[in-house]
Amino acid sequence: MGNLVMGYWDCPFCGSKGIAGTTMNCPACGRARGDVKFYMKNVAEGEIREQNERGDVEYLKEEQAKYVSKNPDWYCSFCNSLNSDNAQFCGNCGASRADSESNYFDMLQKKEERERAAAAAQQPEQKRRNPLVILLIIAAIIAGVVFFLNSNKTSGDLKVTALNWDRSISIEKNVQCSESGWELPEGAELTEKKREIHHYDNVVDHYEKREVKRSRQVVDHYETYYTYKDNGNGTFTEEPNERPVYTTEYYTETVSEPVYKQVARYATKYYYTIWRWKQDREEKAAGNDHNAYWPELNLGGDEREAGRTEEYRFTVEDQKKNTTTTYRLAEADWRNIHVDDTLNITAKRTGKSAFISDEKGNKIADVEAVR
Ligand SMILES: [Zn+2]
Ligand SMILES: [Zn+2]
Repeated sequence: MGNLVMGYWDCPFCGSKGIAGTTMNCPACGRARGDVKFYMKNVAEGEIREQNERGDVEYLKEEQAKYVSKNPDWYCSFCNSLNSDNAQFCGNCGASRADSESNYFDMLQKKEERERAAAAAQQPEQKRRNPLVILLIIAAIIAGVVFFLNSNKTSGDLKVTALNWDRSISIEKNVQCSESGWELPEGAELTEKKREIHHYDNVVDHYEKREVKRSRQVVDHYETYYTYKDNGNGTFTEEPNERPVYTTEYYTETVSEPVYKQVARYATKYYYTIWRWKQDREEKAAGNDHNAYWPELNLGGDEREAGRTEEYRFTVEDQKKNTTTTYRLAEADWRNIHVDDTLNITAKRTGKSAFISDEKGNKIADVEAVR
């Protein structure tokens, strides 16, 4: 059992402070102690003290400690005053201890509950804007913008100022190439074959022992520290506790680690010549009328055609805005357009998904703006 420490209380009736816990009645107004909370001088509630930090702790003298009960004061239900565990009748009103229903700690708990309830009732209720409402407003704004950008806009009275077409044919030439590889392709003519390094493998050569320094935490010794418990009778008990103190221990460990070496792996490499079709040139034709034609081809014996591309365009002038735009479209639609025609073009407000339309925006032919 630890040492007893003197507790103190303040009189709730006359405001007298720092009355010793061994005193049952207020020396200023004479009333018995009731709804009070005991405290120590110098040591705060929950404080921890080290072995050598206890010079200001106010211990009860051995003579006093002898008469102090270890039990809390009992609380008189008739006059609300605290009485020592040694007393069988209330020192204030004379009621029997048998009629008492609670002690110091029960009284303290009820008092704290009352204070918490009073504090909660005073707390003003905070008003917050519902985050869901803000989210819905943002979503509605985004939806509105998307809907606007996605809506169509028709530009009328566009005057066709030019027609253009481009046609081109890609030509490949059969050429003899010198190549090498780990396989001989079909149709190749072998020139030479050699053993060469194909790749390297990582192979364990041997193991090496190595000393590694390591450390670990071990308990060196235990040290005592002290906590303080309210006895509920005007005194506190100083209780000793133990905690481990650690120290770092160093030691060496031998580990075995693999040492690798690079081993070359050989394979047969083939050197050969092979005939391949390679891109050679483009034959092109272009014009600004409806007479589109393919360029004439004069293919040599070692040449072939490898694909055709074609593009048909028209340019319109917006006389209100004083701008011109060129569009690409299918040949069949392009043949229906002539210089000096007037057109309507409808597109999204972003400029995408353009098409030739009537005045009301009904589609006639798809087009694509040329950058
Ligand atoms: Zn008093
Ligand atoms: Zn009483």
